[in-house]
Amino acid sequence: MNIAALSEQHSVQDVGYFDVLIVGAGISGVDAAYHLQQNFPERTFTLLDTLESFGGTWLTHKYPGIRSDSDLFTFGYKWKPWMGAPIATAEEILKYMNEAIEENQIDEHIRYRHKVLNAEWSSEEKQWTVVAENLESGEFLKFTCNFLWMCQGYYHHAEGYTPEWEGMADFRGPIVHPQTWPEDLDYKGKKVLVIGSGATAATLVPAMAADCEHITMIQRSPTYFAPGLNRNELADTLRELDVPDEWTHEIVRRKILHDQEEITRRSFEEPEGLKAELIAGAREYLPEDFDIETHFTPKYRPWQQRLAFIPDGDLFQGIAAGKASVVTDQIDRFTEKGILLKSGTELDADIIVTATGFNLCVLGDVDFAVDGAPVNFADSVGYRGFMFSGVPNMAWVFGYFRASWTLRADLISDYVCRIFQHMQDLGATVVTPELRPEDSNMQIRDWVDPDNFNPGYLTRSMHLMPKQGDHEPWVFTQDYWREKDEFPAASLEDGALKYT
Ligand SMILES: Cc1cc2nc3c(=O)[nH]c(=O)nc-3n(C[C@H](O)[C@H](O)[C@H](O)COP(=O)(O)OP(=O)(O)OC[C@H]3O[C@@H](n4cnc5c(N)ncnc54)[C@H](O)[C@@H]3O)c2cc1C
Repeated sequence: MNIAALSEQHSVQDVGYFDVLIVGAGISGVDAAYHLQQNFPERTFTLLDTLESFGGTWLTHKYPGIRSDSDLFTFGYKWKPWMGAPIATAEEILKYMNEAIEENQIDEHIRYRHKVLNAEWSSEEKQWTVVAENLESGEFLKFTCNFLWMCQGYYHHAEGYTPEWEGMADFRGPIVHPQTWPEDLDYKGKKVLVIGSGATAATLVPAMAADCEHITMIQRSPTYFAPGLNRNELADTLRELDVPDEWTHEIVRRKILHDQEEITRRSFEEPEGLKAELIAGAREYLPEDFDIETHFTPKYRPWQQRLAFIPDGDLFQGIAAGKASVVTDQIDRFTEKGILLKSGTELDADIIVTATGFNLCVLGDVDFAVDGAPVNFADSVGYRGFMFSGVPNMAWVFGYFRASWTLRADLISDYVCRIFQHMQDLGATVVTPELRPEDSNMQIRDWVDPDNFNPGYLTRSMHLMPKQGDHEPWVFTQDYWREKDEFPAASLEDGALKYT
């Protein structure tokens, strides 16, 4: 429904104009607000979020053990030192974000429980009209803004992805998705089956193992895990030497990124060597007779899916202690008592957890229109993977898979502020990425190259995502080590960004 139709059905209250409207108060939205304030303190902005507080992902997910799977030196902001251990719980991340928000007075700009429904650009007025529903009062509110900074993440927060299996209704116990974890779920002394072997399953299994009678992870195919101590020796040394926190943060970030670049390079150039090392890492924790070949030897190249770090090898420790086990098989159907596998084995359960991922969401399910025409992002081409052909004054923060998401949020924030400065210098108020004559024969590709990175949630919904081209500035490389140099140096007069 567009704004005109919505306005016929509901009274829509006019809130007024902001220079910038940010959607989402997760890690990306707070980053955007920080950069905007630092670079353009005179500009007005507001930040809207559906949820009741900040944090996005880290507020939504409440399952046992919820933690990051990448280190907080790089998942944290480049502008706020991380003082804890590398892998952090959701609670620690929220505490860090709370400090970031309060220290920079971002809280006074956030409106929680505001769900953005529509965004319509008018070339005549040179502004967006954005309608949001206040979920507390049920009121519809209209904002206008010059620039829309979409920091709404990449998946539906309300509900996770659960495939349909035959017989699900027959199972006599609860079937739970980690994204909507019931606070009162009692799993003490119970038999639990966890379907999936991504980072979420790898977190849940060790976190629940001690309390359950037994917990079993069922996977169709194995995943790579990188076990290691949850401490950073370099950070510990620098802290011992009383090096200022800002320096420690920066030095440790550089070291981690340097090491990760090497791992990424090896995943392409010598995947077999890297694979052998990762598997040897698992072997260190698992009993000698454990069938690593079947359960922890993936078929794909390391890094084609996100590589989850498991602190202190806790997943493997749970297995070694006999409290947890892993089954590699296919699900035939759910039964009254549990799950029947294709091999004919039936696994008994009191509770089944479907750690089966997300539903991808393109731009927050907001109905976009430009000059009255609805925008289908699948028809647009991404400008360096953060703006879109034919869509004026709008950026979307989509982070990295292989490196920490926030590294890209920071790079995009700097880039957007650079564009703002350029527009100010030109006296322009509108910037629109548009394909140039030399782009007319460009090969149009999927948003993310499936050979580069191919988790299920992306491949399931790739057809809904914007496209990328085969040359700059239309490529989306998902390569931090390239973008960290290219983004700050890229010309703002490349002919693809049109200013008026
Ligand atoms: C369980 C889990 C663990 C993860 N761990 C890591 C990790 O360790 N390292 C890593 O790099 N990445 C990780 N990720 C990816 C993670 O989502 C990002 O790193 C990051 O937190 C995303 O931040 P964001 O602000 O872009 O989006 P989100 O955290 O998704 O926040 C988006 C916000 O926008 C709001 N929003 C959405 N649509 C609307 C709308 N229409 N109107 C108003 N508000 C809206 C949402 O309510 C939400 O608060 C993880 C993801 C999950 C699910």
